Amino acid sequence: MMKNIEPKNNIGDCVHLLPMQKKALGRLGIKTIEDLLFHFPTRYSDIAKICKICDLVEDELATVYGKIGKIKTRKSFRTKIPMAEAIIEDSTGKLKIIWFHQVYIAKMIHEGSLVGLQGRINGSKTSKAGLYMTNPEIEKTKDLPIDANNTLFSKTGETFGMPIYPESRGITSRWFYHTIQKIFANNMLDKITDPIPEDILKKYSLPSLKTALVWIHSPKKETDAKVARKRFAFEEIFYIQLARQQSKKDYNKRASFCIDINKRELEQFIARFPFELTDGQQKAINVITSDMSKDKPMLRLLEGDVGSGKTAVAATISFAVISSRKKNAQYENLQVAYMAPTEVLAKQLFESFIQYFAHLPIQIGLITGTGCKKFSSKIISDSEKAITSISRAQLLKWIANGETNILIGTHSLIQKVVKFKNLACVIVDEQHRFGTEQRAKLAQKSEVSPHFLSMTATPIPRTLALTIYGDLDLTLLDKMPLGRKPVITEIVLPGAREITYKKIHKELERGKQVYVICPRIDEPDPEKEQALLVKSVKEESERLKRNIFQKYRIGVLHGKMPPKSITPSTESKESVMFAFANHEIDILVATSMVEVGINIPNATIIVIEGAERFGLAQLHQLRGRVLRSADQAYCYVFADTKTQKTLARLKALRTAKNGFELAELDLMLRGAGELVGKKQWGISDIGMEAIKNIKMVEAARTEAKKIIEENIDLKNYPILAKQAEKFVIPLHFE
Ligand code: ADP
Ligand code: MG
Repeated sequence: MMKNIEPKNNIGDCVHLLPMQKKALGRLGIKTIEDLLFHFPTRYSDIAKICKICDLVEDELATVYGKIGKIKTRKSFRTKIPMAEAIIEDSTGKLKIIWFHQVYIAKMIHEGSLVGLQGRINGSKTSKAGLYMTNPEIEKTKDLPIDANNTLFSKTGETFGMPIYPESRGITSRWFYHTIQKIFANNMLDKITDPIPEDILKKYSLPSLKTALVWIHSPKKETDAKVARKRFAFEEIFYIQLARQQSKKDYNKRASFCIDINKRELEQFIARFPFELTDGQQKAINVITSDMSKDKPMLRLLEGDVGSGKTAVAATISFAVISSRKKNAQYENLQVAYMAPTEVLAKQLFESFIQYFAHLPIQIGLITGTGCKKFSSKIISDSEKAITSISRAQLLKWIANGETNILIGTHSLIQKVVKFKNLACVIVDEQHRFGTEQRAKLAQKSEVSPHFLSMTATPIPRTLALTIYGDLDLTLLDKMPLGRKPVITEIVLPGAREITYKKIHKELERGKQVYVICPRIDEPDPEKEQALLVKSVKEESERLKRNIFQKYRIGVLHGKMPPKSITPSTESKESVMFAFANHEIDILVATSMVEVGINIPNATIIVIEGAERFGLAQLHQLRGRVLRSADQAYCYVFADTKTQKTLARLKALRTAKNGFELAELDLMLRGAGELVGKKQWGISDIGMEAIKNIKMVEAARTEAKKIIEENIDLKNYPILAKQAEKFVIPLHFE
């Protein structure tokens, strides 16, 4: 049946597939035999770790398998939180399950469903309610993995656990296992070449590709699977590093504008700030200006929490660039382009820059999708009047002839029609919201490689930054400016809800506004996740309206709303945000995914429901929404469980110095899956495993650098070249 199969063969040509299986493979993006081999189990159901219900102990994370008994939905007695309740039964006993805020679960499973559940055990054996499990993860199964004394999977015990593949309707983990075993039996592995050079594998004791594939799909012991995953994790990070080092070397090949730093002028510029620079800001300015005065382009990422003062750094750098003339005598004006992710932010930056540069005879332009403006202090000294709306054509002309010194804008900046005379420096705010492709486009606007400063407030651990921004050097602004009032953060247990709502009432009476963020819902299907989130936002807003804040105006904001209103009466993200900003709404109930990015100083309270389901860094980011008001701000973190571990984790929100520290903690305590923005980095789950291991990330970086140093186009490594290409940021546009 399976004869002479090649890695590139379609699965359907080698194996008989039912229509349902064909569809399922399609959904998973698996076409060829090779795709199938590189479709890895997410875990191995470790038979030994499945608990009998009769043996459960409180405050533990447990996995149980059994049959679902009665299932129902209701609202909690006092606070009316929607919840689903069920009973699970195995051969040793029964256990109650509660899902807070997740009533949709009741629709996913039915009485009689066979499921595996993993979750925390709460309650106590001695109390009336007994033990119960809260918010467990569910896996639907066809069979129960334990039948008295044997395992479902292997009678002979030849694997240590059953590989569990990413779920898709129509295809089972068993099918994957058996099909892959058949493929192995056909000597398929001999036809696949290992892209990683042997000396690297040896140096880091990594298994060959062939061994790793066998071990990952059918490990005989736990370490087999671990070592195999380690190899694949290394491999992916290594490819990313190759691509980044390649692009860095390529960027460095071209000339840059060597910036002449006039220390005294720079100090004078800084002296006009209404505040003292923090140490972090000063250090960042020093290292960036020093980079820019060398003969190759500066390439750096500046990481700092919201409010850490990145704009002042950007302004100082911009000043250094536009005031540098001597060494570039052949150029008149050097130019700076500053790109922001949204129109609102671009306008805010434009205004900040006018403050910073009002005393200097320069021109600052603003280009967005809806219009252009320029500020020029040459003409009128009153900075209000010095701002004028101008035509796009006029602005483009000034950019092209060098009269515009600093251009601020949204992605309108990267359109091909925008041509600079001497673009010497590019600054990108919140680069993670741009595609890497767009960054490359902006950098390519000039014959000379502009200096490149990227700034982000997204809290990610160092290992991840070194990987995804592998072509950039890193600088961290790790402390906030002095005198900032920290947000008072409280972890609120179920019993303290009422007191907290009272406190919030007081602030509402004082005319303050409130954000309520609804819990995250993890769902493999993003569409469904969205739908469920919308539902939970609506339910929560109704509950608050009915039971808690009857007197106040409550608005709803979620990702499924249209961005802008088509008619004045339709609600959109924009119209709701506008109403909130104008204080036509007192309480805004929103999903965590929705951008609530606009700064509304009167909103001084944020309530986060189901906090245990968020990573710390994400909670910190949500809290950042109330950071900017002059009044005291409050963050109430509502947790549904009382378990010590969860509480200890949440308490870090009160002690950690910044978001980056919290991101590191997330990584240590909960793994790479919890990192903010994980979905958008294009790293697979297995690649993310490497992010936990600084040694591995550094090894991948070192080896990639070494290879690229001698071999920028990877001519001697054709297979590597192909793999790295998948992670390349395209460099040429249109
Ligand atoms: P972000 O890093 O989020 O871009 P901003 O640059 O917008 O932060 O700064 C936030 C606020 O802090 C601004 O009002 C700015 O004027 C102020 N600020 C910046 N640096 C300092 C400092 N060293 N001391 C006091 N306030 C500062
Ligand atoms: Mg900023």
